[in-house]
Amino acid sequence: MLYDHILIRYGELSLKGKNRKKFIFQLHENVRTKLKQYPAVKIHNARDRMTIMLNGQAPDPILDACQSIFGIQSLSLAIKVENDENKIKEAALAALTDHKAGTTFKITTRRADKSFPIGSQEFNHVVGSHLLRNTEEYTVDVHHPDVEIHIDIRTQATYITSKRIKGAAGLPVGSAGKTALLLSGGIDSPVAGYLMMRRGVRLEVIHFHSPPFTSEAAKQKVIDLAKQLTYYGNQIKVHVVPFATLQQKIHKNIPHGYSMTVMRRMMLKISEKIAERENILSITTGESLGQVASQTMQSMHAINDVTNYPVLRPLVSMDKEEIIRIAKEIKTYDISIRPHEDCCTVFVPKAPKTKPKLDKVKYFESLINMEDDIQNMMNNIETIMLTEDSEANDFEALF
Ligand code: ATP
Ligand code: MG
Repeated sequence: MLYDHILIRYGELSLKGKNRKKFIFQLHENVRTKLKQYPAVKIHNARDRMTIMLNGQAPDPILDACQSIFGIQSLSLAIKVENDENKIKEAALAALTDHKAGTTFKITTRRADKSFPIGSQEFNHVVGSHLLRNTEEYTVDVHHPDVEIHIDIRTQATYITSKRIKGAAGLPVGSAGKTALLLSGGIDSPVAGYLMMRRGVRLEVIHFHSPPFTSEAAKQKVIDLAKQLTYYGNQIKVHVVPFATLQQKIHKNIPHGYSMTVMRRMMLKISEKIAERENILSITTGESLGQVASQTMQSMHAINDVTNYPVLRPLVSMDKEEIIRIAKEIKTYDISIRPHEDCCTVFVPKAPKTKPKLDKVKYFESLINMEDDIQNMMNNIETIMLTEDSEANDFEALF
């Protein structure tokens, strides 16, 4: 086999001075977990990059798997050889002829090992001439080459690479804390979760479920969505909160124009309690400004008022088309469009206020006691742990 290593470049990690160690550790963990099913491969960290030794494993599935890991800027297949002129030439030749005839190339040498006897510029020529002498249909183009063959001479060994594949970028999941993602069965919230993971945040999912008004299938849909997100975040805890009793009470006692606002406030209030219990410092929703009645500025203000937690809304400025594009890319879209009602659509009032007034909301809430219901809901949460390799329907209930 030509290539025996994969090089992983950290990208944004290099900017994070102090936290660097933690980020590299987390990335290593995430790569290790992702590649668990390939026991032959070995992972090594260095300050500025990571190497995966393939040990006979075919590279393509490993490259595919690594492309979903946040914190990786780019990946390259590499050949590792001793710091020996002839061995390097041989490997560079193999890397070049792996490309189709007619390809133009350029050699770029980096010599971190200053004891290597030939300077970088000179070595570019040495290797370039060697390749031209030993091939017929490849030519040099230093300005716009089809491939750039990188020769990286380090103290321990030399790495030869000729292709750079884009990584998922962002930060390693788990390096920036946890957020409680309010996951409905809709298109938006899974995308919001994905974007948070891209910034290094681990997800814990909260879903409000209202049996018998919402079906088992609606709950399974949310579990399937969370399961799909484990492709990026490996493990995700899902809290399913029984919402029907409180929802009915709100529906019955709060003027209909305001019931949506109160319902959302209660969702946030309970989410904050769960977050507190689970040591989570923020709440994330799939809200996007102006999309529906509950997502106007006035609504957000009235709803947000129940919590001091940061409520993160990564989709706030995005158009629906943009959100759908990402949903398709991350393969949550087809799950989201399954036709199951969620708790909000079942109880949706005919004309929710698009500009609810905070003092009115508070007044209506003060007329009913919801504390006992909230406590009751907290006591009856079903928690499920999902991992990338668990089956979506043989999940393990924790409580
Ligand atoms: P989505 O596509 O994510 O459902 P949406 O555009 O339908 O969003 P809403 O129904 O107004 O918008 O919901 C706004 C946000 O509230 C959702 O993105 C989600 O974060 C949260 N949410 C709504 N319903 C639920 C639920 N049953 N359980 C948990 N969170 C919910
Ligand atoms: Mg929705």
